[in-house]
Amino acid sequence: MILKNPVADRTAPLPAYKRIALVAHDHEKATLLAWAECNRALLAQHELCATGTTGRLLAERLGLPVQCYLSGPLGGDQQIGAKIAERMIDVLVFFWDPLESQPHDPDVKALLRLAAVWNIPCATTVATADFIFSSPLLGVAYPRALRETLSHIERKPLG
Ligand code: PGA
Repeated sequence: MILKNPVADRTAPLPAYKRIALVAHDHEKATLLAWAECNRALLAQHELCATGTTGRLLAERLGLPVQCYLSGPLGGDQQIGAKIAERMIDVLVFFWDPLESQPHDPDVKALLRLAAVWNIPCATTVATADFIFSSPLLGVAYPRALRETLSHIERKPLG
């Protein structure tokens, strides 16, 4: 059986019903919670997931279901990165702390890198999150292009 490469058409549309991942470092959690509360009505129209602590706090504050992965420093960032690569996450809201290094800085970098590789909307500031969540594209299917990624996928295996 020949499996069809799911990205062979060079696009992997983001669905209208978005799967949104939210992550905030400790000093940014209050900011994310306040932002999420302001945007609760929009967030409620989509599917939410988050790293462990962020997700628990969001679920409490918003009263919405949030799928919680492991805590970020324990592997949650990597789990969310993997879901982006599997095309199971469509939007990332990641308020990382620009003023303090983290024990899991390599994971932070890897998560931001995968968001770029897979060309998903990625907000790392409140302003960017506001722009994304006020965009009409949030509520419609979007033909996300994967050209850069495909140049790697199409690389021939050795031998
Ligand atoms: P947390 O992880 O939501 O479990 O605090 C966030 C992070 O540090 O990546």
